Amino acid sequence: MFYGRPIVPATDSSATGGRVPTQQDLDTLSLQLHRPVRDVVEIPARCICGNPLVAATAPRLSNGIPFPTTYYLTHPILTAAASRLEAAGLMNEMTDRLATDTELAAEYQKAHESYIAAREAIGERAGTGPVPEISGISAGGMPTRVKCLHVLIGHSLAAGPGVNPLGDEALAGVAQWWTADKCYCEGAWDAAAPVPNKDLSRHVKHLNKQEG
Ligand SMILES: [Zn+2]
Repeated sequence: MFYGRPIVPATDSSATGGRVPTQQDLDTLSLQLHRPVRDVVEIPARCICGNPLVAATAPRLSNGIPFPTTYYLTHPILTAAASRLEAAGLMNEMTDRLATDTELAAEYQKAHESYIAAREAIGERAGTGPVPEISGISAGGMPTRVKCLHVLIGHSLAAGPGVNPLGDEALAGVAQWWTADKCYCEGAWDAAAPVPNKDLSRHVKHLNKQEG
C-alpha cells in the first residue's frame, strides 16, 4: 500500500531537527485542537507544507501520569475523516477480521509491539525514562481489537507504510478527504485566532484568587 511519505519521516534520524517541535508547531497544535497542548515532545508526521499532522506525547506527562497514547492525530481534516470511518462502522468490521484472519492478526500484533518500541524510544529521547505502568500496553485497541481509528492512522503516519496494516487501511480509506501528496491546511483551522494558552488560564486563576 502506498500513500506517500510524510515530509519528515520519523524513522529518518537525519530529520531529527524537524522532529523536535518548534514554538510555532506547538501553537499550531493548540489551534488545531482548540486547547493548549502539553508534553508534546516530537512531531512525527507533517503535511507537505510542514504543519503537524501528528503529535507525539511523552510516555510520562510532566505531572507524573503515565500516558500510553503516544501518537495523537491533530490535523482537523484527518481527525474528521477518521471520525467518518468510525461512524460508518469500520472498527467493528476490522475487529471481526482480526478474529478470523490469522495473518492480519499477526501483523497487527507486530504493529502493537512496534508502537511500544517506538514509545520507549521517544521516552528515551525525551528523557522521561522507563514507564513500567504502561509496559505491554499500546493504544487504539491493539493488539486484538480496533477501538480508535485516530490512533491507528496516527501510528501509520508516524511509522510509515507497512507497519500497522489496519492503520494503513484506514489511511487509504480517508483518501477522498485527505492524501499525503496534498496540503489541506488552508482554512482547516483558524490560524489567526489567539493561541489557547495554559499560562493565561493559570494567570487568570491567580488573579481571581488575589481578588477573592
Ligand atoms: Zn499543509
